[in-house]
Amino acid sequence: MPKVLVSNNSELLRHFTAPPFQRLGLELLVAQDANEATSLFEREEPPLVVLDAETEGFAIAKKCKAKNPTARVILVAGKRLSGDQMREVAASGCDELLIAPMTADELHDVIAIQLGEPRPGTEAFAVNIQIGGRKVDATVSNLSVDGVRIVLMEPVAEGQAVDVTITPEGQPAVVIKASCVWAQPRDGKTVAGIAFGALDDKARAQLAKLTQWQVVKDGERTRVVLRGDFTEATRFDELLPAMVGRVVFDMAQVTYMNSLGVRAWCEFLRQARIQGYEFHACSVPFVLQASMVKDVIGRGTVTSFFAPFHCLSCDHQEERLLQSAAILASNLEPPVFKCPNCGGALEFDDLPERYFAFLQADDPE
Ligand SMILES: [Zn+2]
Repeated sequence: MPKVLVSNNSELLRHFTAPPFQRLGLELLVAQDANEATSLFEREEPPLVVLDAETEGFAIAKKCKAKNPTARVILVAGKRLSGDQMREVAASGCDELLIAPMTADELHDVIAIQLGEPRPGTEAFAVNIQIGGRKVDATVSNLSVDGVRIVLMEPVAEGQAVDVTITPEGQPAVVIKASCVWAQPRDGKTVAGIAFGALDDKARAQLAKLTQWQVVKDGERTRVVLRGDFTEATRFDELLPAMVGRVVFDMAQVTYMNSLGVRAWCEFLRQARIQGYEFHACSVPFVLQASMVKDVIGRGTVTSFFAPFHCLSCDHQEERLLQSAAILASNLEPPVFKCPNCGGALEFDDLPERYFAFLQADDPE
């Protein structure tokens, strides 16, 4: 049960009782003031800290990070951020800055990512390959409803029968009969295309869930987790019936969008009869398209998104989840974080006016 040190802030404490948090099973350590926050941190050694920026949050974050650099610190600030506060992000070493008010989902996304826990619909799955009843060592990529691409250490013949076993975490495995449709030797290995034969409904549903989307009913809302590549092969029609009421799209696992995929997606949004929708945890490929083509977001709003960061000192690169409200509050000035490798400055690695272009159209002010 991970411990979380949290400021005595009624909004934050209420969020921690919301449904998505129950899955994480957190133990809250509530600090009444800055002194108690520091002493609780020293005594209980929580891996995660969520603090009000206003009540000496930056100073406490600095102390926590000095004592335990691996602890994750999230600060929550008010609606307007000064340039000075933005610069304190790097100086304090905090891992994330959020702007209140926010929804429980937004807070949950950030906390799940900081704790390394999967968010709903993003659970891992394993794929195993068997040839002639024998499990082979293979690297798997490009899993789709039609087939999969594999790289293996041994030769495989075109036309050879292959069993593909897919095991989503915590669920029963699905075995799919498939065959090799092409094979090429490369650097002492074999790269092969494996096509699935006729799929039963269970296998088809499982594959669609793992490679295209997953729809989760969550009270009044529908949560739709999109996955994989958006290309000319992607059909969103089957998703239309699920588009009722309020919809939250989780875009973290959208890996690639070409122009035809963009067109299919925009057409889908136009047809969907959704009251209102928002996008959570948008991946970099999705943001790059949304900043060029306004219709990628349609009538929706982006709540949070990933952005590329780079450390000039050690060349470390990583993507950080940013909250739209935080970037808007700082007039599109991205935060600078502390590099987890070398302690140097982890800086935003794109042009703000280009990468954040999708936010400007959204700005309600
Ligand atoms: Zn570095």
